Amino acid sequence: MRYVSTRGQAAPRDFEGVLLAGLAEDGGLFMPETWPQLSAADLAALRGMPYADLAAHVIGLFTGGTIAQADLLAMCRDAYGRFDHKAVVPMVQLDNRVFALELFHGPTLAFKDMALQLLGRLFDHVLAKRGQRITIVGATSGDTGSAAIEACRDRAAVDIVILHPENRTSEVQRRQMTTVLSPNVANIALKGSFDDCQDAVKAMFNDAAFRGEMSLAAVNSINWARIAAQIPYYIYAALQLGAPERKVAFSVPSGNFGNVLAAYAAHRMGIPVERFIIGANRNDILARFLASNDMSMKPVEPSLSPSMDIQVSSNFERLLFELLGRDAAATADQMNRFRAEGRMPVPDAAWQKARAQFVGFTLDDAGTLTEMRRLHAEAAGYIADPHTAVGTAAAAAHLPADPAVPVIVASTAHPAKFPDAVREALGITPPLPAHLADLYEREERFTVLGNDLEQVEGFVRAQARRNR
Ligand SMILES: *Cc1c(COP(=O)(O)O)cnc(C)c1O
Repeated sequence: MRYVSTRGQAAPRDFEGVLLAGLAEDGGLFMPETWPQLSAADLAALRGMPYADLAAHVIGLFTGGTIAQADLLAMCRDAYGRFDHKAVVPMVQLDNRVFALELFHGPTLAFKDMALQLLGRLFDHVLAKRGQRITIVGATSGDTGSAAIEACRDRAAVDIVILHPENRTSEVQRRQMTTVLSPNVANIALKGSFDDCQDAVKAMFNDAAFRGEMSLAAVNSINWARIAAQIPYYIYAALQLGAPERKVAFSVPSGNFGNVLAAYAAHRMGIPVERFIIGANRNDILARFLASNDMSMKPVEPSLSPSMDIQVSSNFERLLFELLGRDAAATADQMNRFRAEGRMPVPDAAWQKARAQFVGFTLDDAGTLTEMRRLHAEAAGYIADPHTAVGTAAAAAHLPADPAVPVIVASTAHPAKFPDAVREALGITPPLPAHLADLYEREERFTVLGNDLEQVEGFVRAQARRNR
């Protein structure tokens, strides 16, 4: 299995290469050269398998022999064995045809754990084999940072430093990062905004000497290994509901388009999908694109679903590559124009192709609260987090005409992760699961730094060396 860049100028890599590289050198994203196929017989063999085993099987189709299958299976069992539900990704029926696929039973209560718990183990495995170490740096406004820290804590070959904007994350989110006291983990509370944090991380990556010295790596959602680890749950859920004999639809609340892209990959591998429904909050670039081919950047506005407060959906480039018939030169041209002009005129044929499979839906904060109340009233007191509510509202608005097609909604966060929104909608405070019940009493550790690259780099250097 080889991986090619969506912009066509980077040398192809194998799975290990894309795991460690993240972004391609030409600025593009790696894609599998071909989609592995699951026949009806393959799918029948996966039905009923425990989640970790199914995941190892599906992800194994992407590793191309770079990771021994027995090792991959052990890593999957170890990663998903830490989830607090034996099914790992249980499905809850919300009404006659709509099902919530709960992806939040991992250590940080959001779906990012699905990929990152495995990614941390994959990094350690591959780095140990090569006798290398890396330093992961990342910026977070909330969920990604805690999931990355939980994934990398106590890993032998990895140090991790996460920057968050001082006083601008929710208390749950901050505490999930700052109460991890492992020696290879450090948190920077930057005096600035989330954008300042992102700029600082970008600047570190652009500082070639520093990047080399520290072996900097990223765990953002452009890493193909993350997408690969998100494909199994779509296959697992579709099989539970009768695929491949029965078509399903997926509704996914989206920010960077990573989770939707994994659903699309499941389809390309053999799951019959009637449609993909993409839920957005007021930051709705993808919904505008699908409705009217208006792919134009607007300033990010805060919403009740902060993990989707994103204007540039970086993984969309992978779908664009597919829509353009895998024409890398055309993809590069579109992406360069998008960066230069803030808008992307997608050719009509490609836009029509997208509209034939994907439908977008936008929900504002008031609508999100209304949807949370509706679910609570109509689905036996179901408490959805605000991101999930965007997904369920999108599903209700775009139910397939064929009543035999069920809709699987990606339920991306535990409601206790967003207690303020739940209180506002329902007047109740959702309790944290047992493993986090004492989160508010735990000791925190973080370092406040000014928005100054030299200071930040100095801190990262000191942090990384301590373990060497
Ligand atoms: C990251 C995140 C999303 C968006 O996922 P993408 O892959 O970026 O589309 C949605 N909900 C929650 C809770 C998240 O943490």
